Amino acid sequence: MLQITDLTVRYDDVLAVDRVDLCLEREETLALLGRSGSGKTTVLRAIAGLVPLVSGSITLDGSDLVPVSAHERGIGLVFQDFALFPHLDVGANVAYGLRMQMATRIEERVAEALEMVGLDGLQHRRIDQLSGGQAQRVALARTLAPRPRLLLLDEPLGSLDPDLRHSLAGELKELLDQTGVPTIMVTHDTEEAFALGDRVTVLVDARIAATGTPAQIWTEPGSVEVARIVGHNGIVTAGVAGSVASVGGLRIPVTAPDGTTTLLIRPGAASTGGPVEAVVIESRYRGPDWVISVAIGGGTVEVSSPSPLTSGDKVGIAIDPAGVTTLD
Ligand code: ADP
Ligand code: MG
Repeated sequence: MLQITDLTVRYDDVLAVDRVDLCLEREETLALLGRSGSGKTTVLRAIAGLVPLVSGSITLDGSDLVPVSAHERGIGLVFQDFALFPHLDVGANVAYGLRMQMATRIEERVAEALEMVGLDGLQHRRIDQLSGGQAQRVALARTLAPRPRLLLLDEPLGSLDPDLRHSLAGELKELLDQTGVPTIMVTHDTEEAFALGDRVTVLVDARIAATGTPAQIWTEPGSVEVARIVGHNGIVTAGVAGSVASVGGLRIPVTAPDGTTTLLIRPGAASTGGPVEAVVIESRYRGPDWVISVAIGGGTVEVSSPSPLTSGDKVGIAIDPAGVTTLD
């Protein structure tokens, strides 16, 4: 329903978004994941019509959005800091978008929107008397009340306490599923992207580096950058000869030319007690087991062990080839 092709945005000499293609299906939530400065907010601003494009097309339900002004696009954008009006109470904040639309039955619809986000009865509460989680839900209610065709959320949990974030991620997912409004949400937090996104698109330096379901991105990140962003650390270098990669005596069939390649050894694929030579770097208690970082192939891999091992000692590890993939 949303189709973005070849989107490029510049701020003077900064190339903020570079030839990005994206699509969004009906009722889908897409998580846009990337480090700070990778261009995530700019993609949202471009879709909302708040920044001029260098090139690219954006269509919603088959019609061209580019010539349409921001307030006529029917798109709801929730800013990272929520941008609530501090001098208006909760109800007046939620009513704001409806008044802009010159909607009727405003009071009823404000009450509906507040009920949807679980804040019924809080119409007259002052903004500075809300918790972070409540402020986030008021911002959502304000954006959802005019019934947008598309919802854009910029780091929706980013300004909340870490322990609140994970419980609210679940609530937000439920709310998005309930409303059925197609959503693009931006985050730098992989756990949040995986929890909320039906699909995840990873931005690296203004360009798309990967798109897929959370499981696809985690299992086959495709590149070292994406593997690191999703939190993998079992990244090692291996020599390749005749379509076989070798590292520490481990041999794994790969489709890569002779020379060297980079392998991702996924968590759980390596265990102690095997023929692959490695050196213990450190042991850390995780409970109930120990996590042992071992050096292999110019990188490190983590293995689980019932007891700590001595740093510097050689250790034999086993690696399940099914848990190994190549990276660009
Ligand atoms: P993200 O949301 O992923 O952190 P942004 O889209 O905000 O990234 O920024 C992408 C790049 O554009 C960054 O290099 C940032 O410094 C730059 N940028 C963002 N907004 C502006 C602006 N208004 N003027 C100039 N440069 C900007
Ligand atoms: Mg941003």
